[in-house]
Amino acid sequence: MVVVLLGPPGAGKGTQCKRIIDKFKLTHLSSGDILRSERAAGTELGKKAQSFMDSGKLVPDDLIIEMMVGAITKAKGNCVLDGFPRTVVQAAELDKELKRKGNVIDAVVNLIIDDSVVENRITGRRSCPTCGAVYHIKSLRPKVDGFCDKCKGQSLTQRLDDKPDVIRERLKTYHQQTSAVVGYYTDAGGEVLDVDADRAIDAVTAEIIEKLESLILAK
Ligand code: ADP
Ligand code: AMP
Repeated sequence: MVVVLLGPPGAGKGTQCKRIIDKFKLTHLSSGDILRSERAAGTELGKKAQSFMDSGKLVPDDLIIEMMVGAITKAKGNCVLDGFPRTVVQAAELDKELKRKGNVIDAVVNLIIDDSVVENRITGRRSCPTCGAVYHIKSLRPKVDGFCDKCKGQSLTQRLDDKPDVIRERLKTYHQQTSAVVGYYTDAGGEVLDVDADRAIDAVTAEIIEKLESLILAK
């Protein structure tokens, strides 16, 4: 099963993916997380991606497509894609690659939310560099401020691109290049499952699960 989770930066894609993967037995493939591990490991790909990520621009399509095709193959085609595809070219390449493997996208979920809300979410986001858990300084606080609940003693960090000027650039990039991906899927005749993401985390999770379950039952 392949699920694509769309939405602007800060919509809650990573948060929601972590909550649905067990239920649907999917591997969570976040292009942003994969790029950040490539950077941490000092790989060629990580080095090439660095300046684009730090300025809030998109990493070139060819690099991303190769990276994500590799990750999807490793996940044996059972995955929820978070942050990919982010351009129409990436979406078309993903379709071609899945078709080549006899696979298809089963569901496209689109998290809908205003820029004013995501700006607040992104500036308050804190992550654990060890396990990748994501918190928020107001809406999803760890038990002890500044420390990961799971990795005791591990200080939470703020992503370098979660600063106001880069956030504005990332939102601009989203509206200029990524929002068109929703239209790509509707034009292709597929159903896009719209979910209002400006609600409590549990309410958003419940609606995503309900919509995915109805889709599976209808097949
Ligand atoms: P994305 O992966 O789309 O960039 P994240 O899942 O990292 O977004 O969420 C961005 C920030 O917003 C995180 O700090 C997260 O804890 C917080 N967050 C996510 N969903 C909600 C929600 N429904 N309500 C309030 N805060 C949320
Ligand atoms: P994210 O963690 O999804 O917010 O992504 C962080 C950054 O990684 C983005 O601002 C881009 O620079 C880069 N990135 C992640 N996914 C993609 C993608 N599919 N295409 C191009 N760049 C990407």
